[in-house]
This record gives sequence, structure tokens and C-alpha cells, in this order.
Amino acid sequence: MSKRDYYEILGVSKSASADEIKKAYRKKAIEYHPDKNPGDKVAEENFKEAAEAYEVLSDQQKRQRYDQFGHAGVNGAAGGGFGGGGMSMDDIFSHFGDIFGGHFGFGGFGGGSRGGTRVRKGSDLRVKVKLNLQEIASGVEKKIKVKKYVSCQHCNGSGAEHGSGTTNCTTCHGSGRVTRVQNTILGQMQTQSECPTCQGEGKIIKDKCKYCAGEGIVREDEVININIPAGVMEGMQLSMSGKGNAARRGGVNGDLLVLVEEEKHPELIRDENDLIYNLLITVPMATLGGAVEVPTVDGKVKVTIAAGTQPGKVLRLRGKGLPSVNRYGTGDLLINIGVYIPENLNKEEKNLMEKLGKSDNVKPNASASRDFFSRLRNMFE
Ligand SMILES: [Zn+2]
Ligand SMILES: [Zn+2]
Repeated sequence: MSKRDYYEILGVSKSASADEIKKAYRKKAIEYHPDKNPGDKVAEENFKEAAEAYEVLSDQQKRQRYDQFGHAGVNGAAGGGFGGGGMSMDDIFSHFGDIFGGHFGFGGFGGGSRGGTRVRKGSDLRVKVKLNLQEIASGVEKKIKVKKYVSCQHCNGSGAEHGSGTTNCTTCHGSGRVTRVQNTILGQMQTQSECPTCQGEGKIIKDKCKYCAGEGIVREDEVININIPAGVMEGMQLSMSGKGNAARRGGVNGDLLVLVEEEKHPELIRDENDLIYNLLITVPMATLGGAVEVPTVDGKVKVTIAAGTQPGKVLRLRGKGLPSVNRYGTGDLLINIGVYIPENLNKEEKNLMEKLGKSDNVKPNASASRDFFSRLRNMFE
């Protein structure tokens, strides 16, 4: 099986910085996230492929080996962890903490449902919440209705009718386990397994509750309040422990996993905690200066344009971006200034332009050219 180039998978150059690789992976992980593409096998493969590429390229040593020897350089050394889709979904999700900033319990999927614990745990419930920039900027409380398993009120989750109680399972005599003895060439072998009659509980309900058929849980609508902290980002996952499905007959509730979706703002573009606004001004405004209104997450603000403002100039409104989810500061609003060159002038306006064009003052001097070209260069680096 020939593999695609890791850099190509993430869509970054060979010289990409660690930060660029992280950003690129985050984008792919969001795009191909299984919650966004339920049942889509191709998306799942892409999701795994991107995770594998990130696993290697985010590790300096592995990246070096990969650069030098290609796939052969990392496959063996990783102890066969890769290859043939060796990374499990759990592995991939366990890394999300690093990618999306593992604060406030964001990131990890799964949890309790894994592993052979003895306490019965209800399954996790997954929901999505769509947030606009205002809500992300301030944090918000969302009420959402979910259909979930809750403890049966009629039997208090016991599954037994009117305290009819339980009796020891006759198959396993209350131990919950059954032992099988087999004769093999190595002698007698004992194997233990969960009792099939009582599913390992050791007890059987005498008289099953009519409302839940002895399960102790029923499916109901519930309205859940979700407190979303300010600064969350598309693809983050908030986990609310104990708000998931109730377990059968008095176990521990599963968790509620809340996947954050971000609504695109019509005018503002998000870059981590900064916001970007592209502002197009007129030639007279750029030349003479003036005031314009620009949008922010909480209404418009007036911004002064200095006389002689060049296209490509960036104004920074400190603290007008989004708060960071871990509460370390707030981003800025960056106003990218472009200048609109008029395309349809009437005769009179053309005359004015021609007149202006004859003046030596409209020609760029050496320092203006230097500034302009260095700005252009920065855009492409
Ligand atoms: Zn019941
Ligand atoms: Zn039993």
C-alpha cells in the first residue's frame, strides 16, 4: 500500500513551522471530523490519514527521520503503531487536547465507556451547538432539548416493581460469573465469564417494573443548560460529566459531549483570538484621511483614517478581538486597509485625475516604494 506524502496530506510545505503544521491539522480534523460526517467512510479515512501525518510531523525527531527516509523512516520506529490504519479513533481523540487547547475538559472523546470497569456507566450523549461570534465573545448559556435515557421514576431506577426486590440468580448462585472447566492436553483449564442469565449482576429482579421493563431507565426529553465559556472555537468539545444517558439499574450516568460549531460572521474573519476586517476605502479618503465605521462583535466603532494611508496598512484595535478560552488576555481586531481604485469615471472626474496625474506629488518617492514592496513581501511569507 503506497502512502501519500504527509506534507501533502496536511497541505503544508516541507519548511512549514510547527505552528503551521498544527493549524493545518486542526483545519483537517475539523473538516473530516466523524461528528460532521456521520457514516462517511472516505471522511473517516481522511481523518485518520491527517492524524497520522500530524503524529509524525509534530514530533521533531520523527519529522527528521521522515524527511530523511520517507515513510520507511517512521513506520518501523513507531513500533508498528502506524500502517494499515493502526491509529485508533481513541488515539486520535486523545491528542485533541493539544490541538484545541485542553482547557476545561475540552478535547477528549469517549472516557467511561471504555475498559472493563465494574460500575455500569450510561453511554455518552453527543450534541452540537452552533454559536455566533457574539456568543463566543461573551460566553453564553444554551438550553437544548435532548432525548436521553433517564432513571425510571416509577421504580427509582431499580427496575423492580414496588420494591419487589431481587433474588439470587440461579445460574451463577449470585456470583455473577460462571466457571467452565475444559480438559485440554495441558490438563484442566478453568475459564471464567460473565453470567449470561443476570449479565454479571448476580441478582434477578423478582417482579419487573412495568414502565421500564426492568431496565431502570426510560427515554425522555430533557432540557439541559449548557454554559459555554467565552473564546471557544470550532471543533472544540466540552464535556459535562454525568449529563449523558443514565445507566441501566442504578449505575453511573454517562457524559454529555458538546461539540462547538461556529457560525461564520458576515464581515469579521476569525484568526484564533484575533478578528480581521477587510476595509476598502476610496482614493480621496486614503489621500485626505477621514473617519469610517467598522463592525466589531459588539456594534460599530468609528476609526480614523490618517491622511496618506497606503493600501495594505493594518490598523490594530487592541482588545477588540475574542477572549482566549483559558482567560489569558483578549485578541485584537485587525483592520486590513485596501484602497478602491475607481473604474467608471465621467469626463469631469477623468479631467480631475489627469490634472492630478501631472503633479509630481502623486509619484511614489523612494521610501514609499520601499515600504510598499516590503508589505507585499510580508504577505507572501
Ligand atoms: Zn421502572
Ligand atoms: Zn447469574
